[in-house]
Amino acid sequence: MNNQTNPRRPRRGSYRPKSETLALLKTSGNTINGVGETKPRRPSPFFWHPPHQHPWGALQIVARENSRKCPGSAEAFQAAYTYPELIPIADTRNEATGEQLTAELISFALAHEADGVGITAVDPLYVFEGYAITEPWVVVLALAHNYERLKEVPSDETNGVGVCDVGDQYAKGTRSSYALVNWIRSQGYSANPYPGPSANALALIPPAIAAGLGELGKHGSLISRYFGSGVRLAGVTTDMPLIATGPDRFGADEFCATCQVCTTACPPAAIAPQKQMVRGVERWYVDFDKCIPYFVEAASCGICIAECPWTRPEVRPKLLATMARRLGQ
Ligand code: SF4
Ligand code: SF4
Repeated sequence: MNNQTNPRRPRRGSYRPKSETLALLKTSGNTINGVGETKPRRPSPFFWHPPHQHPWGALQIVARENSRKCPGSAEAFQAAYTYPELIPIADTRNEATGEQLTAELISFALAHEADGVGITAVDPLYVFEGYAITEPWVVVLALAHNYERLKEVPSDETNGVGVCDVGDQYAKGTRSSYALVNWIRSQGYSANPYPGPSANALALIPPAIAAGLGELGKHGSLISRYFGSGVRLAGVTTDMPLIATGPDRFGADEFCATCQVCTTACPPAAIAPQKQMVRGVERWYVDFDKCIPYFVEAASCGICIAECPWTRPEVRPKLLATMARRLGQ
């Protein structure tokens, strides 16, 4: 289902935000995100942090309400917010080598609902301002969307299939990250979970890229060689001595330079065709102030990740082969 055949998708440029949505836009989200800033800095708490921590909190509450009106969505997200109990750290440590512990950890995560696993050192720039992470490693878990369900986005009161798949993947991330934390603690090491969709101390996309789970796409989301843009993330930080796994360059960044699929499909025309300077890094960036009104009204939208050619299972292998040739791999 694409923009031509999905009756819930307005054409690019035809969308106008409701006045009650516009009334909640208190300040520019692009400023909070550091667009135009040339010096690196930690990200500021924003959407999906507790509403009192940022000026868009009231809009975030409306976004949740709209999402939960879709059939099945409340139950799907309830599962994402159901946190299993965490165990204390065992007194005895598994003293295996970093290589062995890394192999055991990856194998455990893949056996407990993760669809991909990456490991990287914690960089202070991954940690939101006002928060602290003391553990040196971050494990990022990839949770793959069901493409047949994802392509139904956006959701509304008549069809909640797409947003329910979002909730289901976050629920997998919660269960998987908590299971992994408990396994690490059982081996005598410290570990803490960072599942979505609520944000906590850890920004997930930057470590996911460093850990080799994918590249940043023009739509501001991760593109994985295995799942395309149809992927959600959860994190685990730990002091278990591990081996880094990334990064992985397969040509998504180069492909985005000429692809226009998401820019054309985005109803509020929020996806910029060129990279921009954001907190000291030249990168793809979505205009927050344009995206978020539609995102709020359309139950978390998701059109850009569903429409991305890398997300289509039958297209992805051809793109990988083409880009491997172009990159001389
Ligand atoms: S999520 Fe935002 S950027 Fe993506 S298609 Fe929807 S409105 Fe556009
Ligand atoms: S739709 Fe095209 S431009 Fe947008 S993220 Fe996917 S590959 Fe990149």
